[in-house]
Order: sequence, then C-alpha cells, then structure tokens
Amino acid sequence: MSKKAMKKAAKAERYQAFKLERRAREKQMQKEKRRLKAQKRAAGELDDSAELEEKARKRQKMSGFGGKIVLDLSFDKLMSEKEINSLCSQLAYTYSANRNASYPFTLLCTSLNGRTRDRLEAINDGAYKRWTHTEWWENSYDCLWSSPGVSSSTREASLPQADLDVQKQKIVYLTADSGEEIEELKPGETYIIGALVDRNRYKNLTFDKATKESIRHARLPIGKYISSLPTRKVLTVNQVFEIMLKWVETRDWEEAFNCIIPKRKFLDSRKKGKDKSLSEKEEVVSEGEGGDITSDQAELKIDAEDLEKVVQEDQLLEAQA
Ligand code: SAH
Repeated sequence: MSKKAMKKAAKAERYQAFKLERRAREKQMQKEKRRLKAQKRAAGELDDSAELEEKARKRQKMSGFGGKIVLDLSFDKLMSEKEINSLCSQLAYTYSANRNASYPFTLLCTSLNGRTRDRLEAINDGAYKRWTHTEWWENSYDCLWSSPGVSSSTREASLPQADLDVQKQKIVYLTADSGEEIEELKPGETYIIGALVDRNRYKNLTFDKATKESIRHARLPIGKYISSLPTRKVLTVNQVFEIMLKWVETRDWEEAFNCIIPKRKFLDSRKKGKDKSLSEKEEVVSEGEGGDITSDQAELKIDAEDLEKVVQEDQLLEAQA
C-alpha cells in the first residue's frame, strides 16, 4: 500500500470510529430528552401552547418556501474527471444545506447522465437516490413545460400554446452573465442553476443556453449590495443555492451574501478593484474571476470522503428522526 493510501485508510478508520461514537452520544441525548419530556408531562408542567407552536413550526418547515430549484446537470461531457468529482461534492453540500434549512426548496436535478451519474452511483451504494426533497431526472428540465418523449410538434399540437408559455414564463435561468438582476425570489417560480464546475473556462455558457432556449435569465444582485464585489461574480453551485436559502430565511440579500460568500473574497476583490474606475473594475474582475473560481474550488476539496460524510451524516439524521 502506498503512503498516501495508508494515510487515507487511517483517516477513514478514524472517521468511522468518530461517527460511531457520535451516533451513540446523540442517541443517548435523544433518550434523555424524551425522558425529561415524559417526566414534565407526568408532573403537568408541559406547556401545551409551546408544544403546539413547535409542531406548527415543524409543519411550516416541512412545507418549505414553495419555489423549486433545478440543477441542470447537462454539462457532464464538458468537465474533467476532477471537475465532476468537485461537482458531486458541491451537490452534496447543496443537499446538506437544503436538508438543514428552515425553508427548504424542492430540488430537481435534471439531465442526470454519464460520469456524474456513475460517480453518484459509486458513492455509498447510490445514496443520492434517497435524498429528501430531491428528484432526479434523466430528462432535461424542458419536460417542465412539455411532456417527455413526445416530439415538440406533437406536444404543441396537443397542448395549447398559451399553457406552455405560462409554464415556461415561470422559469428563470440563473447566470452570472445575465444583464438582468433578480430582485426577489417568488414561491411560484422555478430557478435553474447550471450544475457545472469549469473554473470559468466556458464563459457565457449558461447565458447562451438560456437565450437560445428563450428562457428568462438573471444574475444575483451581488454588486448592488456588496460594493466591494463585482456585479458579475461567478460563484459555485452550492454557494448560489445557499444564498437563495438564506434569502428565503431573511429576505435580505446583503445578509445572504455576507453569510455565504467567504470574507476573504471581499478583501481580494477590494485589492483588485483598488483605484479603478467602475468600468475598469468590471473588466479587471471578469479577468480575475477565473482565479477566484480556482481558489473557491480549492476550498471545496475534491475528496470522495466529502460526499460520503454528508451522506452518512444524513443517514444518521434519518435514523434519529
Ligand atoms: N461558466 C459557467 C459558470 C458555472 S458556475 C456558466 O456559464 O454558468 C455554476 C452555476 O452557478 C452557474 O451556471 C449559474 O447557474 C450559477 N451562478 C454562479 N454565479 C452566479 C451569479 N452571480 N448569479 C447567478 N447565478 C450564478
């Protein structure tokens, strides 16, 4: 066994031991909590209204925000093996954030194929299929406004054009290259995120796709709220998703950006943009974005254990529920 493989095996073993220990500790805590509650109930000390409130809060949490997020996985062939691995880690972070959110979104992962699917299947016995609030489609998101497997001419003949248009109008492709800025998220709308890790090698890729398919598009209003950051900053899939979750919770873009975008990004950009006029700053920043993306993705370390950890933690939560 190589030194690297031995290190990895030792790390996996430590993680396994830690996990079992934590699981036992958490089970014990749950048990204690139930025992205390039963004791209080028997003594007539339990506040019914507080309990009802807690139940209502849980129900509200289960019903979520109402908006749907599509992760468009159709870029499988454009990524290297490493980028696919990184994307799968980002998907796991996305799912994990959604699972822990006060107001989760319905997640729809479309065009699941190729190496991305192979990678997900290989991890923890295809655990991704059991992710809550998450649907996986082999088909493209265009099934949202048309029926799968039916040629577009038949489709249009069988469904009134006006209905198709209404469905499609509710969809917004999020892309950093859009000239439009999103102001608020709406429960009835569906937002598409490009499930892609490309170190910004494919500039305008999702913008061009949305334009070609006549889908509305918009970028996050970063520049409007964080003056030290460029208007068209390219973020990772899970960052965009987590910003949206935070906005739903707080209805405040500034807070959402501050919470999710790493602080050092603000400093980096300030350095880059220093003493530049606005237009120059935009130019510098768009050149610099490739660099930013690289460091972001370095942060999201490509590591199979990453994804496994999220999946295992999730199973733990499920076992406790
Ligand atoms: N070159 C790719 C960049 C991928 S980044 C492209 O053409 O989109 C991953 C995805 O996150 C993007 O496809 C987009 O959906 C979303 N995204 C990243 N930064 C964003 C921003 N500032 N505003 C809106 N969406 C953004």
